[in-house]
This record gives sequence, structure tokens and C-alpha cells, in this order.
Amino acid sequence: MSRLVSSPFPRSLEDALSRRDFLWLMGVAGSALLLPLSGCAVDPVTGQKTLVGMSEDQEKSLDKSQSPSQFSSDLGAVQDAGLNGYMQDVGTTLWSKSHRPQMPYSARVLNANYVNAYTFPGGSMGVTRGIMLEMQNEDELAALMGHEIGHVNARHAAERAGKEMLTNVALVVANVAIASSENGQQYLPLLQPLSQIGASALLAKYSRDNEREADSLGMDYMVAGDYNPDGMVGLMNMLRGEAQQKPSLLETMFASHPMREERYQTARRTAEQKYTSQRGRPPKRERYLDNTAGLRRLQPTVEACQKGEALMAKKELPQAEGQFGLALRHTPSDYAANVLMAKALMAQKKSQEADSYLATAKSIYPGEAQAVHLSGLAKLALRQPEAALAEFHAYDKLLPGNPTTQFFMGAASENMGRKRDAANFYYRYLQSGAQGGEAQFAVARLKDWKVIK
Ligand SMILES: [Zn+2]
Repeated sequence: MSRLVSSPFPRSLEDALSRRDFLWLMGVAGSALLLPLSGCAVDPVTGQKTLVGMSEDQEKSLDKSQSPSQFSSDLGAVQDAGLNGYMQDVGTTLWSKSHRPQMPYSARVLNANYVNAYTFPGGSMGVTRGIMLEMQNEDELAALMGHEIGHVNARHAAERAGKEMLTNVALVVANVAIASSENGQQYLPLLQPLSQIGASALLAKYSRDNEREADSLGMDYMVAGDYNPDGMVGLMNMLRGEAQQKPSLLETMFASHPMREERYQTARRTAEQKYTSQRGRPPKRERYLDNTAGLRRLQPTVEACQKGEALMAKKELPQAEGQFGLALRHTPSDYAANVLMAKALMAQKKSQEADSYLATAKSIYPGEAQAVHLSGLAKLALRQPEAALAEFHAYDKLLPGNPTTQFFMGAASENMGRKRDAANFYYRYLQSGAQGGEAQFAVARLKDWKVIK
């Protein structure tokens, strides 16, 4: 136990949280990533030996253990089987043309409103509904997916792990502040409004060379898949314009200023020079519009959510609440809008009202974990620890293995006066390698209760 007790406290809570979330991302809670770095492997794209930090099995295992939580923090896949099936179809065409057709690829549209796409190293891909609404045809979608598949094929995540550059990856959706009140220390759920941080974290650290390589591979794959190379030009042009109009919605992969122009110009040059003869292919526009028709009906909802999230990030909470209200008037049954409304209300300490939106969200999308988790936090804030514990148990069933859940279960148990249960949860939480504010709190409790010295 001395390791826990003597571990140096981080400089700040923020440092601590990103460190903890980094560890969580890296699967310290028992995934294969604690194995020694894999060393050299053959790059499937270049055929040359390269230093990689993960074996193919480790890539798959990281993907399997981490992608469900990430997709959930982006509010899950859209409940539109036709649209997800369409993503899978476009993906299948591209995957079969890639250098690693054997990887367990999958694709879905996520309920998140910001503009991004990302892929875990085993090939699990998420594309936000925000970016789906910005694209014009299937060729642009194929370019976007091709780029993502490019990262998987060039093994950029593994390469990055090999260079030990994967630091400070923050997948913070919600965290807990420790505040004092007249009753002594309390657990106050504190919402991190920047839900945008999470999804881009895995992409944020790719180098410019990685991005260039992914663009080039993506174009190869889409052209091999019978798409018009101008789809890549259209995609890059859209992202370039997006950066000027709505910079806050853009994620790091697209946001780097010189890269935007360079990537657009490179795509244009490549289309003109390398794929001249394929430029006559008719763009697959109808198919895209047909398959995204349901999504496009949600456009006003998504736009109001985008505005609301931008306001949340600026901590303009009542204004954010107004935008989410607008989103809900357009589409009362929108899972994302209900969850975001709840977040805006929780951030204003209106936990009761928040929890009723969460109840709606849970009934709209049973099985999606985010509303369940938030409902647990709302109930903690409402001092309904028993009900909170039930939510955390339900969350743990839906998304097992997130060590933070153990902490919240500990908090709920403690508030119920069940010290022994609480100690067990805190202990398990600390065993996961947790550090930071919650870990300090848990260590202090276990010391108070003489569980550890
Ligand atoms: Zn990229």
C-alpha cells in the first residue's frame, strides 16, 4: 500500500485528472498496454521496419476496451439503423482496398454535434452527425473514412505509442470536485462542459506527417473503391471553410491553420495529377442524400446543440440552456439534446430538473450509458445516494471496466453510511492506478478509516 500513500501528489487538479484519464485511456486497469513496448514491426504500408509501441493484438485490445466508452461519451451511435448500415457499406468498400483488410473495422455515426471523425487502432470508427451534415456526397464521406483508415493502416497510434508521445490524453466527460460545506466534505458532481475534448484526444497527437500520410492513403483507398478523387478536394475545402465560419466546432485534426490550406492544395494537386482519369466519375450525391435524409431533418436541432455547446464552453450556462431548449422544441425525442440540457442544468446546480431530462434520455435510448452515468451524478448531488448507486451499477453493466465508476460507487456508499462498502470501492478504484483529485480523496478516506496507513 505504500505506493498509494507515498505517490507524489500532482501539481494541480487538472494535471491530476488528465494524468488519471490518460492512465484510464491507456488501460492501466488490466489491459495489455502495460506490457513492454513491442519494438520493431513491419509497417504494412511501406513494408519497412518501424518502431511501434503496440502489437496488432494490442491495437485490437485497446480498441475493444476503449472505443465503447469513447463512443458513449459522444452520446452513442445514432438510432438510425439505415444510416449506420450505410456507413458500414461505404466502409466495407474502403476496408477491402486497404493494406490491412484483416482488421476488425466498424463504422457508425455518433450523436455528437461537433465536426470530427476518429478511429481506434483496431479500426472502430466514429463519425459525428455534425460532420455528416456538412458533407455533400458519398465521395466526400469516402475521403473522410479513407483518411481515418489511413491512420489505422499506417499504424499511427502504434507508432506514436512507440515514441511515447501519447501523454496528456484527456478523456474527461465528468469529474468530481471536492468541496467543503457545513456538513464537511461533500462530493459535488462538476460537469466538464468541454465534451469536445474527448473525441479528438486520440487524434490530437498525430504529427503533420501522419496527417499527410493518412490523406494520401485515404485518397488511394477511395479511388480504388471507385470514388471520384474530387471527394477529397471537396472534403478539404469544406473543412477549410468550416474553420473560418465555425472554428469552435473543428477538432484538432482539421484545425491546424497551415495544414488546412496545405491539405486542400495537396488534395487538388493529387486529384489533378495522379488521378486525372478518375475525375470523370459521377459523384455519388443521391445515395448520400437518401441515406442522410433522416439526419438532415435534424439539422436545426444539431445547430442549436452546437451553439449551446459553444456557450457551455464559455460557461454561459443560461444561454446554453436556451439553445438546448430550442433544440428540444425542434426534436423533443433527441437523445443528445436531452443529455446536453441535463448537463447545462447540472452545471447550474438544477439537479432535479436535470434528472428529469435524463429520465427522458434514458427512455429514448435505453442501453446508451451516458444518460445513466449523468443521472448517477445528478442523484449524488440531490443526496439520493441509494438511487445514485443503482445508476452507477446500471452504468457499470452497460460500460464495464471504467474504474471511475468504482469511485462514484464508493461516494454513493459512503453517503449511505456504508463505510465498509465504500472502502472496498475506493480500494478497487485506487488499484486501477487512479491518480488525481478523486484518488487523493479515496486515499484520505482509506487512511481515516485505517484501511491503509
Ligand atoms: Zn487524421
